[in-house]
Amino acid sequence: MIICKLADETQRIVKESTKDGQKSGFIPTMGALHDGHISLIQKSIQAGNFTSCSIFVNPTQFNNPADFAKYPSTLSSDIDKLEEAGCDLLFLPSQNEIYPPDFKPPHYKLGYLESVFEGKYRPGHFQGVCMVVDRLLKIMQPTLLYLGQKDYQQCMVISKMVSDLGIKTEIAICPTLRENSGLAMSSRNMRLTADQKTKAPLISTELLRLKKNIREGNVDSILEESIKTLDKAGFKVDYFSVANAANLQPVTNWDGQSKIVGLAAAFLGEIRLIDNMLLN
Ligand code: AMP
Repeated sequence: MIICKLADETQRIVKESTKDGQKSGFIPTMGALHDGHISLIQKSIQAGNFTSCSIFVNPTQFNNPADFAKYPSTLSSDIDKLEEAGCDLLFLPSQNEIYPPDFKPPHYKLGYLESVFEGKYRPGHFQGVCMVVDRLLKIMQPTLLYLGQKDYQQCMVISKMVSDLGIKTEIAICPTLRENSGLAMSSRNMRLTADQKTKAPLISTELLRLKKNIREGNVDSILEESIKTLDKAGFKVDYFSVANAANLQPVTNWDGQSKIVGLAAAFLGEIRLIDNMLLN
């Protein structure tokens, strides 16, 4: 695997490696890699792409500085995992390489999408996400961008940005990898204590319960029950909701037909966990 820290050099290598018409696949990450990340790398490799991964802990998407400061870093094991998976290139930029002194932060018109759920609880988060993904896409110019459904709203935001800006990259959304307990894999899980790790799967248990029990009509009571259960177990719930899967408009009275998604975010101690599940 080639490891490259410079944007220009990385762009040159991708271009050179794909000059005979091979497609390129790109997986942006913040490192502390787990099997969920690696599943995205594998999808790209299986599709026959020249596959690149980036590791960059992007400061502009952290609305909480302590969360940024404590974000886990496991670079040498990340490199081993990428090598083992067969990744072709790792882009490992410095902050200066992504945001040079003359970088002017653009503003992205995300509208409703950044006013709800993660957008509401993490002001500015999606502007930061778009800023880094836009910049990375300009450098990598991939045929395909692989994203995890684990960050459902992020997939929608990035799809909107790519379409609004006319970026010629196709987006592939990949399923969420979970621990045997049901807990969605996440770099932040590393920071859970042993006791918190036993409680954390409850979010996915409640989403599964929602999926099993949701019926046409009012959905409030079923959601309230889950929030109560999570509260009792010691979670501080930001949201546990049902939304239209296509536009994230909240659903309180389900028509029994439209595609819906259950979305959840909750703190266990100082660790904020998110998860989601398509419900039909
Ligand atoms: P992150 O390093 O958290 O920014 O994630 C990098 C990419 O990996 C994003 O597209 C995530 O949605 C995706 N990802 C994170 N966790 C998982 C998971 N458990 N299963 C599948 N993809 C994931």
